[in-house]
Amino acid sequence: MSISTAAARANRAVDTEGRTPEELREIVSHWGAELELAPAETIIEWAAATFGERFAITSSMGDAVLAHLASKVVPGVDVVFLDTGYHFIETIGTRDAVAATMPVNLLTITPTQSVAEQDAEYGKDLYRTDPDLCCALRKVKPLADSLASYDAWATGLRRAETKNRVIAPVIGWDAKRQKVKVSPMARWSDEQVERYIEDNGVLVNPLVYDGYPSIGCAPCTRRVAPGEDPRSGRWAGTGKTECGIHA
Ligand code: SF4
Repeated sequence: MSISTAAARANRAVDTEGRTPEELREIVSHWGAELELAPAETIIEWAAATFGERFAITSSMGDAVLAHLASKVVPGVDVVFLDTGYHFIETIGTRDAVAATMPVNLLTITPTQSVAEQDAEYGKDLYRTDPDLCCALRKVKPLADSLASYDAWATGLRRAETKNRVIAPVIGWDAKRQKVKVSPMARWSDEQVERYIEDNGVLVNPLVYDGYPSIGCAPCTRRVAPGEDPRSGRWAGTGKTECGIHA
């Protein structure tokens, strides 16, 4: 399969109407198996050509691998970053560096309420008393709202990350949001990610090299020791393992 970048760009310019959920599901069933073994760049190229301007990628700014891959294939691609108000300064710095150095359209999405307003309504530090609600208000809802104008979104989700993600499809149906969910790096190993970063000089959040292999909000992320499960620093000791975005 060959989909030219020019075709992708052309479609991005004209395809603004959007498709029905039925049409989108049909695309998933048709292309899911076809693209299962395709290189990440081909998957992104396909998504850009298929969905035009109604395709965006998301990044939590742990690293800029997905943004780098997408910017090569679709310069100017929308990159959605959820600013929960609780991020490490290094994460905000990584976002700013991505926006300044890569050919992407960085969109910073914020929750309806500031942290102070949330504290006033739900009590101080909701992440301690009800982290699921905190994630729902500061991550899940803002993402759903921000994806309203897209038919498909891409994530850097990988099967090697957690046991919950081992069956993550490359092209899947996001039933919660009625969108196509594209995971171009689903089959990538940790080593492949490291190699890509090295070979391409990709931006990485400096916290990754300081004991934080998986980075979320500052109050809910701790350092992990070498050899520990990389995700064990997220919501440590609470039993919570996902924010709900990928549920
Ligand atoms: S990760 Fe923690 S601080 Fe961030 S939204 Fe979820 S509960 Fe709130």
